[in-house]
Amino acid sequence: MAIQKPIMTGRCDLRRSGRFRPRYDLRVAVDAVIFDWGGTLTPWHTIDHAELWRVIVRPHYPAHHADLAAAAHEAEAQLWELARAEHRSATIFGVLERAGIEPTDELIATYLREWEPHTFTDPDGIAVLRQLRAGGVKIGVLSNTMWPRSWHEDVFRRDGVLDLIDGAVYSSEIDWTKPHPEAFLAAMAAVGVTSPERCVFVGDRPWDDIHGAQSVGMRAVLIPHSDVPTFADATPDAVIESLADLVPLIESW
Ligand SMILES: [Mg+2]
Repeated sequence: MAIQKPIMTGRCDLRRSGRFRPRYDLRVAVDAVIFDWGGTLTPWHTIDHAELWRVIVRPHYPAHHADLAAAAHEAEAQLWELARAEHRSATIFGVLERAGIEPTDELIATYLREWEPHTFTDPDGIAVLRQLRAGGVKIGVLSNTMWPRSWHEDVFRRDGVLDLIDGAVYSSEIDWTKPHPEAFLAAMAAVGVTSPERCVFVGDRPWDDIHGAQSVGMRAVLIPHSDVPTFADATPDAVIESLADLVPLIESW
């Protein structure tokens, strides 16, 4: 068990002093847990995206695959930078259009096949979703993603968890990405809950996930990975090393 509750000492001291109004009532039950996808429900993989694009594009554009793959990699990076800087969403089809790559069924099939090894749901996550469902807690997903809903639902269906998810928001379908508040409010609406203080968000990115969820009043649990940029101003309500630690943590709340 590796649950850390890193911020409570200071807050409790302040609460006792009467100068601190808690953001949430520790005694309340949790109505919903909303999960990030990449690096959270599916384990973190470090991916060489430039090489992955070359592998995807090569069979379909044998004569000039290197240039097109580089263009796709560049377009993808530009659109992720737009998400980071302005919280604007994008789609994989926008990436392909910018790169001048035709999204044929064959190319998309190659894309999905090459990505598949990085999409499997964490077995601990599957167990947690079942536990939460059994406990009457609603389950949501909020992912910064360029993929359409159908691709994500195919992944969840393959792993037997699609029916455990009460509502999901994929940024490819809305105007905004995390950490924009509208993304989190859309996720709450998709799950069918209205009180952010009764929601827990679980994610691996301090800026997008932790700061974003807390800015709308949710509690936020971090599953850290060394490759994800830190954000000094984001202090998670708890840090867990494994999704297996999530249910005991929530029960302690
Ligand atoms: Mg993530």
